[in-house]
Amino acid sequence: MLGGASDQVDVAIVGAGPTGLYAAYYAGFRGLDVAIVDALPVVGGQVSAMYPEKVIADVAGFPAVSGAELIARLEEQVQPFAPTFHLGQRVERMTSRSGAVDGAAGLDLHTDARTVIGARTVIVAGGVGHFSPRRLPTAAGLRAEDVDSFVTSLDPYVDQDIVIVGGGDSALDWALMLSPVAGSVTVVHRRDRFRAHAHSVSLAQKQGVRLLTRAQVVGSVYDHELEAVLVEHADGSRTTEPCGRVVAALGFTARLGPILEWDLGIERQRHIPVGSRMHTNRERVFAAGDITTYDGKVPLISVGFGEAATAVSNACRVIHPEAPLFGGHSTETTTPVARSVAVGEVA
Ligand SMILES: Cc1cc2nc3c(=O)[nH]c(=O)nc-3n(C[C@H](O)[C@H](O)[C@H](O)COP(=O)(O)OP(=O)(O)OC[C@H]3O[C@@H](n4cnc5c(N)ncnc54)[C@H](O)[C@@H]3O)c2cc1C
Repeated sequence: MLGGASDQVDVAIVGAGPTGLYAAYYAGFRGLDVAIVDALPVVGGQVSAMYPEKVIADVAGFPAVSGAELIARLEEQVQPFAPTFHLGQRVERMTSRSGAVDGAAGLDLHTDARTVIGARTVIVAGGVGHFSPRRLPTAAGLRAEDVDSFVTSLDPYVDQDIVIVGGGDSALDWALMLSPVAGSVTVVHRRDRFRAHAHSVSLAQKQGVRLLTRAQVVGSVYDHELEAVLVEHADGSRTTEPCGRVVAALGFTARLGPILEWDLGIERQRHIPVGSRMHTNRERVFAAGDITTYDGKVPLISVGFGEAATAVSNACRVIHPEAPLFGGHSTETTTPVARSVAVGEVA
């Protein structure tokens, strides 16, 4: 951090979608320290939640890249600057501090996990809103701690009987990922056909994944821990499937929710108006990515990247008025990654 109060970061970013991740990188590049918050337990925003397997063809420099690969590259790019990630937390409130008492003017972000992040500037990269996983019906009686909406690590699934609910690409991809390590994997889908790629479905069958179609999870069996789920089939019959952990791959809903209350002059309940510096109507608050609106706005990942760099550069001027708006080209500034490439450590 280049000077300033030590109890607050230079830039707090709301949203770890492609725009927020790139903003975190660019802020690191400008020598600013960063905290980044997302309601999802993983980074990547819409890309991770809605289309990780789709091929994206209009991001500059990538003729074709899967959503998951693009997000992995963004993570890799930001990693040397070690921003603080607060994942699985929704920012509820944004309050301003005048700095009259302690000289630390800025804002506080308050999350639903009671974290308070002090920041000298904020970049709102909230996209189409915070994502929440679609839940299984409460009638199934599953405890929240036994149900995952993302598979982020294989460890909790080793030797477990896993039931995955859903019929899309994520359900089948996770089945393929988990079947080599799990005790068993059963996919339960309420329709008679899977929406996932046919190739993934046949691969799953070959890997020994049980595929139950026209079926729903309607109950659970606990003996201190989850032992099994009850599955109801189209003919009304019920079977008991061994299960130590459930993955609910049912998709996500997005809602702007709390951001509507932050006095940012939100238009049509969806977009934050910004000027050419990506500044909002609130002092020290910038916005970038899908959430912004201005004359001629195009909601694309590539546009969000540009807006992120503009927002960070202008936030940098707020924090360090003596700093230039343009921080120079990356080719002239040796970042840790650039240095490793230069000396041949990174291919
Ligand atoms: C099916 C589909 C295909 C697409 N294909 C393409 C394509 O080919 N090319 C292209 O350029 N674009 C494509 N897009 C659009 C692209 O995904 C978006 O432009 C991009 O994701 C916007 O990035 P973002 O970071 O601004 O917002 P998002 O990706 O929406 O990320 C915003 C993040 O902010 C978080 N958030 C919001 N509010 C809060 C809060 N209060 N607290 C904490 N976290 C919060 C959300 O949980 C989310 O993770 C596609 C979109 C979809 C749905």
